Amino acid sequence: MAAPQLVTFGCRLNAYESEVMRAHAAGAGLDDAVIFNTCAVTAEATRQARQAIRRARRENPQAHIVVTGCAAQTDPQSFAAMPEIDLVLGNEEKLAAASWQMAKSGDMVRVAVADIMPVRHAHRQMIDGLSERTRAFVQVQNGCDHRCTFCIIPFGRGNSRSVAASDAVEQVRRLVANGHSEIVLSGVDITSWGANLEGSPRLGDLVAAILKGVPELKRLRLSSIDSIEADPLLMELLGGEERLMPHVHLSLQSGDNMILKRMKRRHSRHDAIAFCDSLRRRRPGLVFGADIIAGFPTETEAMFENSLSLIDDCGLTYLHVFPFSPRPGTPAARMPQLDVQAIRDRARRLRARGQEKLDTFLASEVGAIRDVLIETGRSGRTEHFASVKFVQEMRPGAIVRARMTGRGKAHLEARLAA
Ligand code: SF4
Repeated sequence: MAAPQLVTFGCRLNAYESEVMRAHAAGAGLDDAVIFNTCAVTAEATRQARQAIRRARRENPQAHIVVTGCAAQTDPQSFAAMPEIDLVLGNEEKLAAASWQMAKSGDMVRVAVADIMPVRHAHRQMIDGLSERTRAFVQVQNGCDHRCTFCIIPFGRGNSRSVAASDAVEQVRRLVANGHSEIVLSGVDITSWGANLEGSPRLGDLVAAILKGVPELKRLRLSSIDSIEADPLLMELLGGEERLMPHVHLSLQSGDNMILKRMKRRHSRHDAIAFCDSLRRRRPGLVFGADIIAGFPTETEAMFENSLSLIDDCGLTYLHVFPFSPRPGTPAARMPQLDVQAIRDRARRLRARGQEKLDTFLASEVGAIRDVLIETGRSGRTEHFASVKFVQEMRPGAIVRARMTGRGKAHLEARLAA
């Protein structure tokens, strides 16, 4: 194994941090390392990581197996109990070059996972690129100060902290110089960016600084945002800045006010609908995606119907459906649980409604001319994040103008526009 191997689960933050670890491990000469960057959002994600670790040990008896990420941070002893593993690293420790030097020299304790809650600074780290990706994720914020009752993330990533605007601009400039045409601003709760920085700037200020500081950047996209925390400048930029993609993904979670209360969310059903209407008035054609949980504890059929109808009332196009999964230590795990079959059934109904919305959107795109960022030889994404397939080979990373000629179940077919 000439270079450290990274096995990344979960979110864009993990994808970004895996590149940081790749550089640190290589720098320390840990060429025989297999590094698992785990996720704790669902029980299934943790199960898959364990399975992959066992397989890696079978296939590489001599490898140095390191496990980190949110599952390792929230439950280190359960990984320490696995004989396949050489080192369990916390989410802070994984980002320090010294950790990897010590791992190489053998001076590192087998389980290095400190309490992450006291951490109040964001690491100043730079990557040169994301391997195998044309769209680059840039971590501008980490952790979360909220405590939604179903969520384990704050226990894995700690409290909210922001990367300085100057570091974020420099990171974006470096990735664009290295050939990335699209940047996705990523974090756990990016709309809280700036809260711990001097002068408490807001996400809108950061977006403006990046667009001004990197004029050669063609496409800037936001990862999931909390609509109730969107600041006026961000709304203005989303409403009219061409380089800011007309696609917004929302962390909505439910369409019922009582369930939103029991989730300890900060917005109401009305707030979500008003947010979408306001942005759509500013920028007709902007598309929305959203995360919705199916089967949150105590959710009645009538409450669930409110989540179903929210899809229409917000005019959502992309739906990420999460069947409720009780996470150890969260308040929602102690609430009266719904029957597993009922959860699955509600997830299926949400996905079916989501597919209908996607069908309508894709059908409306046929005939349109769109700029597509090529990801692999024959596929890419439009500004609206629609998946596109081509017959002919294209150069990954290129942005091409294309006519949408047809559609499949979840993608558009296209050819180069004349
Ligand atoms: S805002 Fe809520 S759901 Fe999102 S990371 Fe924070 S606690 Fe979790």
